[in-house]
Amino acid sequence: MIESKNPYTGEILEKFKELTKPEVDKALEKADNRFKKWRKTSFKERAELMLKAAAELKKNKEEYARDMSLEMGKPIKQAIAEIEKCAWVCEYYAENAEKHLSSKTIKTDASRSYVSYEPIGVVLAVMPWNYPFWQVFRFAAPALMAGNIGILKHASNVMRSANNIQKVFERAGFPDGCFQNLVLGSSKIEDIIRDSRVKAVTLTGSKPAGAAVASTAGDEIKKSVLELGGSNALVVFKDANIEESVKTCVMARFQNTGQSCIAGKRLILHDSIADDFMDEFVRQVRELKSGDPLDENTFIGTLAREDLAEELEQQIKDSVKDGAKIILGGKRDRAYLEPTILTGVTPDMKMFTEETFGPAIGVTTFKKDQEAIDLVNLSKFGLGVSIFTEDMEFAENLVPEFEDGAVFVNELVKSDPRLPFGGTKISGYGRELSEDGIREFVNKKTVFFK
Ligand code: NDP
Repeated sequence: MIESKNPYTGEILEKFKELTKPEVDKALEKADNRFKKWRKTSFKERAELMLKAAAELKKNKEEYARDMSLEMGKPIKQAIAEIEKCAWVCEYYAENAEKHLSSKTIKTDASRSYVSYEPIGVVLAVMPWNYPFWQVFRFAAPALMAGNIGILKHASNVMRSANNIQKVFERAGFPDGCFQNLVLGSSKIEDIIRDSRVKAVTLTGSKPAGAAVASTAGDEIKKSVLELGGSNALVVFKDANIEESVKTCVMARFQNTGQSCIAGKRLILHDSIADDFMDEFVRQVRELKSGDPLDENTFIGTLAREDLAEELEQQIKDSVKDGAKIILGGKRDRAYLEPTILTGVTPDMKMFTEETFGPAIGVTTFKKDQEAIDLVNLSKFGLGVSIFTEDMEFAENLVPEFEDGAVFVNELVKSDPRLPFGGTKISGYGRELSEDGIREFVNKKTVFFK
């Protein structure tokens, strides 16, 4: 049995029976059969259904958001915003998929030569619990619009949301088998990736999970896309607008109770403004309201599971042992961890080297600009970096210096259906969203007429 447990109350919400082998086989057969028909549907037909999915999300956003909050402790207001963002990505691809995938003519010695972008079949998505809806929709909307079929292996602690996602597509009127949630634990995933009816896999989650899934996919010569989290830096230069950058850095670290791959996890401040910045930063973090995730005034909920809070607490303790200082928070109560700030963090400490997945931030200072660039690039992660400065020419010149998949100037790193999203180094490979995302799981077919 797979359990959904409310991390705020400790109550078991629901138990789900894992699918048996014959049930998985039936689901894959259904997906494969559906593909044969779905690939022949027009963009117009797919777009109509995708817009219905967007409408369904908007209509029942409270229902879906509430289950997310119950299952993984996300504050309800942020949960509703997540559902709305899912509607946006559905609308975006309903509107743009045909344009993204229209054939590209290339002049050669042929009478006509072009590239056509064709669906590949059933794609498996292995997804995490931190944004139970968004992570799935940013895969499913482009996959279905491209003519592919989606099967989902969601994180075990958010199976109710996983079933709800399937419900969204059913309620929208998608044909049976276009999108199925498989109620399965992770030990059953290898066989699914190896199944000949499954053509590719995408995973968002930790490095061990990504490495396991990608190794199997590699062994089967199947395409994979990995989005594996990060340790984004927030770099505040000496000319930054302190008031604005503090506000943005607070959001960058603490929204979703800090459980975001693109959260700003390493605060890197120029020595000359560090005191002013920290006075205001600490004040604003102290004011963040913790509480019941279902209360509309709550900004900080619990972590999704107690073991995740324990892990973060240990990273904090280890960093303190190595010389960092807690200047705010630090206490844990089951799955809840107080918003925590550590100063004096150096590049050898866990707060710097590891991904910290929750409401805790480490502060490091620098004197020379080159030092800041080096600190950013020291990380083994490479998802994104935010830099804060009033000098746009300086910012522009810095962009090529960073090894990350994204650079945001005076803004937190955020995903947007119109922009490609993905990392470098151990943050993964491939891109989601935008034209790049929808072209990950297609056959780029070269066509040549003599
Ligand atoms: P995992 O990476 O273990 O889980 C993510 C997904 O991968 C889940 O669906 C999980 O299934 C599945 N999975 C795990 N191991 C395997 C495997 N060997 N083969 C196939 N599928 C697998 O994340 P955790 O929940 O353990 O979180 C641990 C840490 O991972 C976090 O603290 C954070 O640092 C990072 N993380 C990063 C995320 C991001 O957005 N990039 C999201 C979530 C976590 P199941 O739940 O059944 O194990």
